[in-house]
Amino acid sequence: MRLAFSAHDFHPLPMNADASPPPRTKIVATLGPASSTPETIRALIERGMNFARLNASHADRSSHARLIALVRAAAAELGRSVGILYDLQGPKIRIGHFDGPARPVRKGDCFALVVGAPAGPDEFPADYAALDGDVRPGERLLIDDGTLATVVVEVERGRVRCRALNDGEIAPRKGINLPESRISAPALTEKDHADVEFAVEHAVDAIALSFVRGSEDVHALRKLLRRSKSEIPIISKIEKPQALDNLEEILQASWGAMVARGDLGVELSPPEVPMAQKRIIHTAISMHRPVITATQMLDSMTRNPRPTRAEASDVANAVLDGTDAVMLSAETAIGRYPEESVAMMQQIIETTDRYHVMAPQVRRRRRERGIDSTPEAVADAACEVGRHLQAKALVAFTQSGMTAILTAARRPETPIIAFTNRPAVRNLLTLVWSVRPYLLRDVDNTDQLIQELDATLLRNDLASRGDRLVVLMGVPTSRMGPTNLMLLYDVGGYWPREDDE
Ligand code: PEP
Repeated sequence: MRLAFSAHDFHPLPMNADASPPPRTKIVATLGPASSTPETIRALIERGMNFARLNASHADRSSHARLIALVRAAAAELGRSVGILYDLQGPKIRIGHFDGPARPVRKGDCFALVVGAPAGPDEFPADYAALDGDVRPGERLLIDDGTLATVVVEVERGRVRCRALNDGEIAPRKGINLPESRISAPALTEKDHADVEFAVEHAVDAIALSFVRGSEDVHALRKLLRRSKSEIPIISKIEKPQALDNLEEILQASWGAMVARGDLGVELSPPEVPMAQKRIIHTAISMHRPVITATQMLDSMTRNPRPTRAEASDVANAVLDGTDAVMLSAETAIGRYPEESVAMMQQIIETTDRYHVMAPQVRRRRRERGIDSTPEAVADAACEVGRHLQAKALVAFTQSGMTAILTAARRPETPIIAFTNRPAVRNLLTLVWSVRPYLLRDVDNTDQLIQELDATLLRNDLASRGDRLVVLMGVPTSRMGPTNLMLLYDVGGYWPREDDE
């Protein structure tokens, strides 16, 4: 992949004197014990959180139900749309429970992981029944986020013998990664099934699927959701080498993707993560799939009120890569400075967004892929016209959210405002790059639609009289068909208003 910038790209875009545009890159913040009060949740939204993430690996369903209610209440009170992402645990393999403290292991030591029987001396229990069937001698077996690397030396029924490749320790419940093995476990565990039911019941806005290997994993979740009559969008977490091998088919089957750098950095090696991140973001944008960049972005802010310079650069680089959203995990879930972390992320985004350097690259790549549909052609034209006319905004009328996503995938300089009649779509679109979503009541015809748009924009201070807009919509409006119309429109220009008389 060639990344070419010109010197001109590194000057901030000229801004209107009146206001800088709202941040284009969105923020996902994980909620946990450090962010579970109504006051903190409210503050996180005020500081820039667009989506709240609940991690099904931690906490029980009743505390998640409480957090969902708190987010919904705070968003309503603040008049903001905030989405909720429910992140399934997936088939995470772990060391089982054993008594006593963590046990040290020296480089060269051999020990066994045991399944289906009690562990003896020099043995540790593992909680994955198919471990002995899935691993082969010579494959790497990594413990505790890869802190202890081992190689499998022998496999017998119920027992996997490993040799440590470095000094480390083994503690109960630590994670196990098997980057070179074919895992036979289904994508969805029994716990995931129950969690999906919970997510449907609480109408979360998106579900994240962990340890995706191929499109069949995504289809399995979609089938489960459909059985519950749910269409909740699926965000596939890309965290396994196999998922990188099958990236396009996984994205094709998913609504969006997450660069889950925590497990990805264990299953690959840390030096491989930055280019994997760029490839995932690049591919997701070109397939119009919203993408979140996650994990350790401001990690030191779990302890300190300010990030390291490297962390600030990491957030900025994800913005320059064109990610739709950046995510906070421990920083907001268990850290000492949850509000400061969101505020800092927002500041970095605002500062970096002003340069908009990734846009020409993204647009060029879009062209290389061609245009496959009428909505895409209209979105593409709207971005060009908006730029030439220096329009105030691109306005997308959208039922499913797709028109807004197609427009955002061009990464236009012109801000995007989306109008939908579906509250769930409004929430979902808060994750999408540059899109500011609003609800609009149903209308009967195009004239009414524009009239309603006019009033809503002025009422919400989204535009002023005379502002030029590029509107994307589908006609006839009564049929809610795909986007097929672009309209150039000046706010307040068509209908006399009461205050004109
Ligand atoms: C990750 O691995 O980066 C990730 C986001 O997943 P989790 O936090 O569930 O481990």
